[in-house]
Amino acid sequence: MDSVPDWLSPSAITDIALLLHDAKPAARLHVGNRGTELRRWARRLGLFTSLDADGYAAISRSPAIARKVIDLDRRPGRHTLALGSVLGYPACCSRAAARVGDEGIDRWHQAVSARRFHGHFRAIDPGGYIEGASRISHVPCSHRCKPSLALATRPERC
Ligand SMILES: [Zn+2]
Repeated sequence: MDSVPDWLSPSAITDIALLLHDAKPAARLHVGNRGTELRRWARRLGLFTSLDADGYAAISRSPAIARKVIDLDRRPGRHTLALGSVLGYPACCSRAAARVGDEGIDRWHQAVSARRFHGHFRAIDPGGYIEGASRISHVPCSHRCKPSLALATRPERC
């Protein structure tokens, strides 16, 4: 992963690592006006890029999935559940995200991060996500979410 563009946010690097390890089908990243640059980099890794007008990119090994992420995102109304599933989040966590909605997700992220994660479950603490220190790229539905733990403790990590 030495070639990850240095202008990407640390949390984007977590997303890309999970994607490259096939732990998720697609990643959604904020790229500002550097979409073309990202596309060029992603292509070398065999990844396809879809871009929207607001500076977001979706990357995936499948061009159809990358396009679907952008399409879902653009669609009006609630799409948290469908988006979560195409981004590879556990169904329990996507349902929990759908309950709080897009507008509540940051507050919910803070609330879950404030919980104490014990033992193995420390691997799913989303507290370090912004700094790229998190091993998962979604907010777990609880501090004891087993599907999130399975994602975070896959044996082959960068
Ligand atoms: Zn969950």
